[in-house]
Amino acid sequence: MAATSLNAPNAPLLQKTHQTHVFLKPISTIPCQTSAKRFSISCSATTQDRLSVQSQSQDRVFNFAAGPATLPENVLLKAQSELYNWHGSGMSVMEMSHRGKDFRSIIEKAEADLRSLLKIPENYAVLFLQGGATTQFAAVPLNLCAPGDSVDYLVTGSWGDKAFKEAKKYCNPKVIWSGKSENYVRVPSFDGLELNPNAKYLHICANETIYGVEFKDYPVPRNPNGVLVADMSSNFCSKPVDVTKFGLIYAGAQKNVGPSGVCIVIVRKDLLGNAQEITPVMLDYKIHADNNSLYNTPPCYGIYMCGLVFEDLLKQGGLEEVEKKNQKKAGILYNAIDESKGFYRCPVEKSVRSLMNVPFTLEKSELEAEFLKEAEKEKMVQLKGHRSVGGMRASIYNAMPLAGVEKLVAFMKDFQAKHA
Ligand code: PMP
Repeated sequence: MAATSLNAPNAPLLQKTHQTHVFLKPISTIPCQTSAKRFSISCSATTQDRLSVQSQSQDRVFNFAAGPATLPENVLLKAQSELYNWHGSGMSVMEMSHRGKDFRSIIEKAEADLRSLLKIPENYAVLFLQGGATTQFAAVPLNLCAPGDSVDYLVTGSWGDKAFKEAKKYCNPKVIWSGKSENYVRVPSFDGLELNPNAKYLHICANETIYGVEFKDYPVPRNPNGVLVADMSSNFCSKPVDVTKFGLIYAGAQKNVGPSGVCIVIVRKDLLGNAQEITPVMLDYKIHADNNSLYNTPPCYGIYMCGLVFEDLLKQGGLEEVEKKNQKKAGILYNAIDESKGFYRCPVEKSVRSLMNVPFTLEKSELEAEFLKEAEKEKMVQLKGHRSVGGMRASIYNAMPLAGVEKLVAFMKDFQAKHA
């Protein structure tokens, strides 16, 4: 970062010194004993009059939201330190031309880091798109099949169901299995699946965010020319995945890898170029692949944030290490539920319980509101289950620290002791 004088009339808002992140304001604008939440100001200090030191977790909660979700603190602090003046460019990433060399270096590094995290082979394109995973519910059939083509949907939750319903507009999809009648608690055995031998693709949702059902391995399409397509929005980069098993993977960023507004598509290159005629230009993968995701203005800041997250995941040792941490976190939470003698209950079959989204109910459902209120007092927020399921849901994505899960488990035990 370019050095900027602290004495300049309009001193910079942000600067990073060593490991300390400081928030700087022109003297005249600094109120003493400010009530601003994320920093405190000492009025007695001299140099410190203009510095407010932000300590990491000071004002942050443990955010168990399903998405947008918690981001790694060190990533947020790095983004903060680079916000005002990115790498001496004199501007923030939000202000850069998406075609300039600075932003190009950002998107290229984000892609390279993602490729190395997931070991994405060269014959796959990586696209940074917009419109959320919901847009992909339409883009997938529009790009991978002609209007009358058959495709299979294996539905293990409401996101897979939504994807199926959208596909009906563009091809001939069939639900080959649905867990709806059992309230989505399992993944079927692959042996008995009635896969269509002509299906252009088989679609799964690798992790159903609402019901907490996660595929631990993957079915193979019966059509030798068909491909497996996965919505990985809520477990993207949470563990190693053999990309070569898939023709296409898509994931909204706002759970594990960044802010909302970015949707990542990883698609085998030989599948590109056959989009239906009616495909809007913004939904045509080939156009985005040919233009390195820069056909139009991409979600630049979101891509930059994803890049910081990828860098952080690599620093942690890659997805093998990340998976170990996620297993540990999920393990202690599921154990606490299973050992509660029925006070808490997770309805999902043990073998497919999600490492990312842990739904659970209280035996005494009348205590739910109190549970949420008490948890919030302890700075643990967004634990309410999805409106279509009720109960609780703790989303414990990559960025949820072990300490957050340990605190939740201690709270749950304490709450049980008080109310059993
Ligand atoms: N798929 C899954 C698995 C999801 O969890 C979500 C969002 N929660 C979506 C798709 C839809 O994503 P978006 O809101 O980004 O369109």
